[in-house]
Amino acid sequence: MVLKLYNSLTKKKEDFKSIQPNLVRMYNCGPTVYSYAHIGNFRAYIFADLLRRYLEFKGYQVKQVMNITDVGHLTGDSDEGEDKLEKASKLEKKSPQEIAQFYTDAFLKDSQTLNIQEPFARPKATEYMQEMIQLIQVLQEKGYAYESNNNVYFNIEKFPEYGKLSGNNLENLNKNRVEKDPNKRNQADFVLWFANSKYKNHLQKWDSPWGIGYPGWHAECSVMAAKLLSDAFKNNKFKPELFETIDIHTGGIDNKFPHHECELAQTESATGKPFANFWLHNAHLHLKDGKMSKSEGKIITVSDLIKEGYSSNAIRYTLLSTHYRQSLVFDKTVLEASQKSIDRIKETLQKLESMREQKEYNENLASKINAMLLEFEKSMDDDLNISGALGTVFEAIKEINKTLDLIGQEQSQEILNSFNNLNKVLGLSLNQSQEIPQEIYLLLEKRKEARENKDWKTSDLIRDELKAKGYEVKDNKEGQTIQSIS
Ligand code: AMP
Ligand code: ZN
Repeated sequence: MVLKLYNSLTKKKEDFKSIQPNLVRMYNCGPTVYSYAHIGNFRAYIFADLLRRYLEFKGYQVKQVMNITDVGHLTGDSDEGEDKLEKASKLEKKSPQEIAQFYTDAFLKDSQTLNIQEPFARPKATEYMQEMIQLIQVLQEKGYAYESNNNVYFNIEKFPEYGKLSGNNLENLNKNRVEKDPNKRNQADFVLWFANSKYKNHLQKWDSPWGIGYPGWHAECSVMAAKLLSDAFKNNKFKPELFETIDIHTGGIDNKFPHHECELAQTESATGKPFANFWLHNAHLHLKDGKMSKSEGKIITVSDLIKEGYSSNAIRYTLLSTHYRQSLVFDKTVLEASQKSIDRIKETLQKLESMREQKEYNENLASKINAMLLEFEKSMDDDLNISGALGTVFEAIKEINKTLDLIGQEQSQEILNSFNNLNKVLGLSLNQSQEIPQEIYLLLEKRKEARENKDWKTSDLIRDELKAKGYEVKDNKEGQTIQSIS
């Protein structure tokens, strides 16, 4: 079965084919580390994680790069405004490096909480300064960039395809620009290097052929993708002819313009090759009263929700279960519904896990489970149609629950294996061993022993102890099952 993905570049669903057989090279725009990443940002990373997991499920090896932006992202989108890290550094009275480290650590912790897989690389923009300078030099040599009042700009008139990703064109962009920048030939030109910014006391700066300064935001992703996903920076020297088009580039919908449009213009002008075959963008997560945004300070983080007692599973499920191109309106009731869905899956899986009896193999159920696996894949193949895929999972749960009496240990194990396989895509913590701490396990074992000895008093005491520790234990004919109370 062929995976189809909606390509923002061609504005249609296309059959996905990797450039190199079985290997997908994918770049995801990562966090700007001047503040906590919020659950809206995590929607973008969960989407990238789901995409990677699904490509792996389809048999590809995925080389995934997700950057850390620690310089150059301005508070305004059109080269105006202060660098976000510099601003945070002044506000918090810490160096930009301290700010970046602190929020990177917080981001990584939340990523781990959500069971997001580690990419092949997490490059930091500040560690790619020489590469950015080389890219800008090549753009200047090839006539795509010009120096003006000590800054360097990309001349979008020289790249007639500018706008092909976002649908913007030079005329509209020039017309709609309110603040006029006298340094620019076209108002829509964008900065490659600031050696003469109006923010004179910029703390992060580097020497360059154009003077001491710092890069424009878009340069970083062009060079980090080229260096880590192709040979274009072999021996640390930019050789544009060695650039290889990457398979997939992702980001949130707000990244499409100007960020991705500008990345694309830079890379394609410098190398003469397409930057990426597929550009994928996730829709935003909103609050009922508007967008969740770091710059407006209206944010909820993963850690906040965990402290309030929501499970990492519920947060992951919430971010995962709406199709990535549909807006997601977030509130706590969505988290609660997610928890219920996960509990339903877990409860059935736990029953299967505790199945000890040998019974005749139920062919009918086996073929239903196989059909479910195919349906799951068919849905996911359709531009990651997660609602369809999850719908199939719940159909299967219903079917299993209906036929529980007929399922023996061997078949239980087979069904569990199928779920484990699907769950490589979903990345939820569905097994007891994945989520339940050792201490709780030991108590469960003690309780099992007590019950086998018909020591009901000890069994009840342990049940109370488990409850006090946040776990509810239920007894059924297959034994005991446990659930975290959250
Ligand atoms: P930033 O840290 O602002 O550079 O953004 C990191 C990633 O999160 C980018 O891919 C953004 O497009 C994405 N993003 C930002 N806000 C949201 C949101 N409310 N919902 C979904 N994705 C978002
Ligand atoms: Zn980027």
